[in-house]
Amino acid sequence: MSKTTGKCLCGAVTFSIAETIDKVSVCHCEMCRRWNSGPMMAVHPHGGIDIGRGEALRWYRSSDWAERGFCGTCGTSLFWRLADGPSDQAGGGMTASAGAIDGLEDAALERHIFVDEKPRYYDFKDDAPQLTAAETIALFTGDGDGGGENT
Ligand SMILES: [Zn+2]
Ligand SMILES: [Zn+2]
Repeated sequence: MSKTTGKCLCGAVTFSIAETIDKVSVCHCEMCRRWNSGPMMAVHPHGGIDIGRGEALRWYRSSDWAERGFCGTCGTSLFWRLADGPSDQAGGGMTASAGAIDGLEDAALERHIFVDEKPRYYDFKDDAPQLTAAETIALFTGDGDGGGENT
């Protein structure tokens, strides 16, 4: 099995993923854009993320249900996870910033989420599914299985 590696800008935080990553999803929500100055490009490993060097890793509770991990030295946005979620289950509900991962140049775009919060000043050219906030929440919480619900 291939191993995927990643690190922050200064290298104080490193991580690995025990699978090949070939898909990236994009979150257009207001919080992600404030955190990244742009949409959040993230990967969702099925088997979770192993933190290598992590002393500089800091977590910020950004909402009632999620927290964001970043490097306390260089400030790189690195991880997003459910704060009270099933963190020990497959994937751990944890995502990693695509930009922090090595060798991801050939990955494909999997989907857009929170598209109803996207500003007009940028657009992507792709055919990936576009999920509204309601559709995104339904997808991640398992509510309204079927995915046809929106607004
Ligand atoms: Zn760093
Ligand atoms: Zn977001």
